[in-house]
Amino acid sequence: MYDLVIIGGGPAGLSAGLYAARANMKTVVIERGLYGGQMQNTLDIENYPGFGKIRGSELSEHMYNQALEVGLEWKMGEVTGVKLEGQPKIIEMGNEEIRAQAVIIASGAQPRYLGVPGEKELAGRGVSYCATCDGAFYRDQDVVVVGGGDSAVEEGIFLTRYASSVTIVHRRDKLKAQAILQERAFKNSKIKFIFDSVIEEIQGDSKVDGVLIRNAKDNSTSVIEATGVFIYIGLVPNTKFLQDTGILDEQGYVVAGLNMSTNIPGVFVAGDVRNTPLRQIVSAAGDGAIAAMEVYDYLENL
Ligand code: FAD
Ligand code: NAP
Repeated sequence: MYDLVIIGGGPAGLSAGLYAARANMKTVVIERGLYGGQMQNTLDIENYPGFGKIRGSELSEHMYNQALEVGLEWKMGEVTGVKLEGQPKIIEMGNEEIRAQAVIIASGAQPRYLGVPGEKELAGRGVSYCATCDGAFYRDQDVVVVGGGDSAVEEGIFLTRYASSVTIVHRRDKLKAQAILQERAFKNSKIKFIFDSVIEEIQGDSKVDGVLIRNAKDNSTSVIEATGVFIYIGLVPNTKFLQDTGILDEQGYVVAGLNMSTNIPGVFVAGDVRNTPLRQIVSAAGDGAIAAMEVYDYLENL
């Protein structure tokens, strides 16, 4: 039996794990993928204090090693269900069960799909959700990026390292991204913008050859020729395994108070999966630290 199970090994889970292990709580992180979560899909991180500019993979490794060195346990696998009421808490991974006195949900979020014809059919054949992973395949080619937030603009800039042109298609007349990213993108001669427009279809037989877009103001349609389409239209929380717990808001995020507690005693949350105003590495790590210290208090009083 563990004192604490942490679901997800991104910055929130790793930070919670570091604090919990240092407080001598017997703690395990369950992770279905690679340590570091979304950080692994980011080439350079420029806004995590103390590092200047650091590769996402490198920051992931630092966090992982630091937490394991102080005794955090790591378990590969996907959480498929939970029984959170009462004691002990039961975490299901298929047929396997793990028991603990407290749980921190740090399962983060994943890319939202556009839901247009051609997206599913051409996924991996021109449709991508990860410029860091796939950008290099598009050397000297024309690509489209969909979205107007930090991800679309930052990844659009990144893609200009390879692509001959990057067209950012956004449904509004202005971007949502941070000012510093907007400034960089507007200065980059390889980036074009198409505002007030939505993608209606991703075209191509065996691989992408273009996108059909519709102008939301005058309803006109046009085709942009491109061999790659990178979709960055936000995130959806990884909370499928929490469907029946009653702790989710209408968008599927976990509802929590300032101390990261949910309305189930002994169940806490941290990072992007929380209904939080800021989804960043620094805030995920901060949430993780708070949640771990709250677990400590909870166990003391149990
Ligand atoms: P995540 O990083 O999403 O980690 C959650 C982990 O939980 C994942 O590893 C996942 O595999 C695991 N998991 C999910 N469900 C299960 C399950 N059922 N069972 C087991 N494991 C599970 N932020 C910045 O501060 N600076 C940046 O420069 C920056 N760049 C970004 C670039 C992009 C393209 C994107 C998409 C995001 C970027 N962010 C950046 C945001 C930042 O990456 C996130 O805010 C942060 O990673 C959230 O951490 P987290 O631990 O809450 O969740
Ligand atoms: P986001 O901030 O939610 O932005 C999503 C964008 O996609 C918005 O512009 C939105 O349009 C648009 N959009 C949503 N649904 C759409 C649809 N169906 N069709 C077309 N467009 C759609 O998501 P994100 O950019 O992926 O960022 C996610 C989180 O990671 C944020 O918290 C962000 O700050 C963080 N992040 C940080 C950095 C960094 O710090 N350098 C880099 C990347 C990401 P509207 O504007 O109309 O809503």
